[in-house]
Amino acid sequence: MVIVMKHNATADEITEVVANIESLGYKAHLSRGEERTIIGVIGDERPVEPERFELLPGVERAVRILHPFKLASRDFHPDDTLVRINGVSVGGREVVLMAGPCSVESREQLMETAAAVKAAGAQVLRGGAWKPRSSPYSFQGLGLKGLELLREAKAEYHLPIVTEVMSPQEVTLVAQYADVLQLGARNMNNFPLLAAVGEVQKPVLLKRGMMATVEELLMAAEYILSRGNQNVILCERGIRTFEPSTRNTFDINAIPVLKSLTHLPVIADPSHGTGKRELVTPIARAAVAAGADGLLIEVHNNPARALCDGAQSLTPEGFDALVADVRRVAEAVGRTVGLPCLA
Ligand code: PEP
Ligand code: MN
Repeated sequence: MVIVMKHNATADEITEVVANIESLGYKAHLSRGEERTIIGVIGDERPVEPERFELLPGVERAVRILHPFKLASRDFHPDDTLVRINGVSVGGREVVLMAGPCSVESREQLMETAAAVKAAGAQVLRGGAWKPRSSPYSFQGLGLKGLELLREAKAEYHLPIVTEVMSPQEVTLVAQYADVLQLGARNMNNFPLLAAVGEVQKPVLLKRGMMATVEELLMAAEYILSRGNQNVILCERGIRTFEPSTRNTFDINAIPVLKSLTHLPVIADPSHGTGKRELVTPIARAAVAAGADGLLIEVHNNPARALCDGAQSLTPEGFDALVADVRRVAEAVGRTVGLPCLA
């Protein structure tokens, strides 16, 4: 349930509503918008009638949220949430570009790729140190060495880092290096991991599970939010369907559906969404036109030699072309894209 306060409600009136919620054994979660404060009643509040709160001074209305997710819901938090990654805001007017290799393979590979994506206008560097591979015989990532290389690249190119964390035990370690903790598609339902990233105050990039519905993605986000971390970015990365011509089926619908259901930023990963280099730019354009707040793109200095996901990785030149294309689409829908960086 959410309790919408009148726009002129006083601090005492808000405190009284919170005390009332707590006296019933629930938690209260305050969301202070520009216009008014909204108070969420957290817990199974089905036995309580909304009308009892409407009698309290300063309350405009109390309504049940019909969705099973609450903190993630737009009913509870009507304004868009901005997730800040160092100096970069995700969820505002700017479409944020996050780019880099699927996995960190070597210093040379990471530095060359980081230089290229920075020059093209990316604001965040991606790169996996621990890789959730389908086969135990595939390259599993450089682990800690990969994190150290990411730290070097961050210092050299002034790009915040997004990298995947695969287990709750590694959250503290990865958080020392990463600016954004990525939870991969295969871990969207790893509840101990969701809880662990909910305990830290680092932004989390939560990818949609390979077979997850939009509602299941939002419930996964709810786990993180309910532990106290409000900095969640959702990512559409394609789902598995019966269509074999692409690696996954990029669900363009999910972007406007999510934007209407939740206040959290939504970004798109057309690299995993298609699995094919030549499809990445068209789907990136479509995602931005559909309202994506950012793009996560795999770029490799030499895709033919990539240890992971080479077929869907753009060359640096390909990424340059993507940025130019996406900028035109962004402008057409009233958004901006970071400018190429000459430094
Ligand atoms: C990745 O970003 O490299 C990755 C493994 O993505 P996903 O979890 O979406 O498959
Ligand atoms: Mn990948």
